[in-house]
Amino acid sequence: MSDEQQKPLSRRKFIGGSSAALIAAAGLKVASAQETKPRSADHHLPNESDPGVKNDPLDAENPDSVWSPATDAGGQPPFKYSFALSHKRIEEGGWTRQVTVRDLPISKKMAGVEMRLVSGGIRELHWHVGAEWALMLYGSARITAVDEHGRSNVSDVKEGDLWLFPGGIPHSIQGLGPDGCRFLLVFDDGNFNEFETFLITDWLAHTPPEVLAKNFNVPESTFANVPKKELFIFKRDLPRPLEEEQKQAQDGTGPVPHSFAFYTNEMQPTKVSKSGHVKIIDRNNFPATNIAAAIVTLKPGGLRELHWHPNEDEWQYYVQGKGRMTVFSAGAHARTMDFEEGDVGYIEKSMPHYIENTGDTDLVFIEVFPTPYYQDISLAEWMAHTPFRLMNEHLGVGEDMLAKIPKKEMVIVPE
Ligand code: MN
Ligand code: MN
Repeated sequence: MSDEQQKPLSRRKFIGGSSAALIAAAGLKVASAQETKPRSADHHLPNESDPGVKNDPLDAENPDSVWSPATDAGGQPPFKYSFALSHKRIEEGGWTRQVTVRDLPISKKMAGVEMRLVSGGIRELHWHVGAEWALMLYGSARITAVDEHGRSNVSDVKEGDLWLFPGGIPHSIQGLGPDGCRFLLVFDDGNFNEFETFLITDWLAHTPPEVLAKNFNVPESTFANVPKKELFIFKRDLPRPLEEEQKQAQDGTGPVPHSFAFYTNEMQPTKVSKSGHVKIIDRNNFPATNIAAAIVTLKPGGLRELHWHPNEDEWQYYVQGKGRMTVFSAGAHARTMDFEEGDVGYIEKSMPHYIENTGDTDLVFIEVFPTPYYQDISLAEWMAHTPFRLMNEHLGVGEDMLAKIPKKEMVIVPE
């Protein structure tokens, strides 16, 4: 390091490289914030130098953390965690990993799980307190469930399809041919733990055998083969034909009135613009769900417009591409973070944000809400439906500009 670099910055040198000197020379008033925090577009100022230890790959993934926008301010806690950092539990039939409130403290109301099942791989019959919303990311699977009236749901789902298992409803997932599947699960409980669900083997192994015998009016020896330890994710042959398994499971009680599966590929986008499209899936079009979701595709340069959600927190998963999001949390706090494949984002209820495609390919991400119905409020919609006189008195943008804002919510811009 040179002497020049080690010397404390003199007032003269400090101001010399910034436009503040020019402003001062012109006799204009210089804002104190600019005097104490000079910034340059190409980060060449002495106070922007970055000598010493660096993590170049991580910095390259997070340009808005390395050089945050000048509008960022305050010590807002992080709202991003990557599945790539999660412990992967590997079993005979596949693997799983999770991102919960224990990894990302802000994510109090929702948690996520990624799972891979090989062809024939079974996620053991189980249930949990929270509801499970799922998106198939690759391949195909057979799902099974039984509701509180004994009605059955056996469905095959493929890439892009969804399912919803309400809280307490027992279910299973099995990877189909030729290469099983990989999927995302989202739970309306930040403290969810995929490794501690109610498993059928675990329960029976912890029930006295004479009680099992009495419950089913069979000899105790009937249950001699129940595993002493959970199966969790294990491998078996592929299931029988779908119609055969549906018919047997529905015998006597029939199917569930509203399927727990949703075939997203058959749905038209809810909103299309030249910069992308969005599919909103909530109780309006998926009656079985108590979790609302949006699947958003932003073309390069596209922006999910400035907005917030008045009714619930938002849990995000980035499926492909690169983007950035700024969350404004009031009290002059704002933070920008970068996202890519496998990242989780989280925004608390009513906190405004935008998502911008910063890459050169489509950005695809999902928004999930622990509520049956999707709701949002956009900045543009608010501005378009407030007296222009009043809005202009706040922002000084001119009433002509306000009059040109589309009257209907845009969602994805430029339109
Ligand atoms: Mn489950
Ligand atoms: Mn949002």
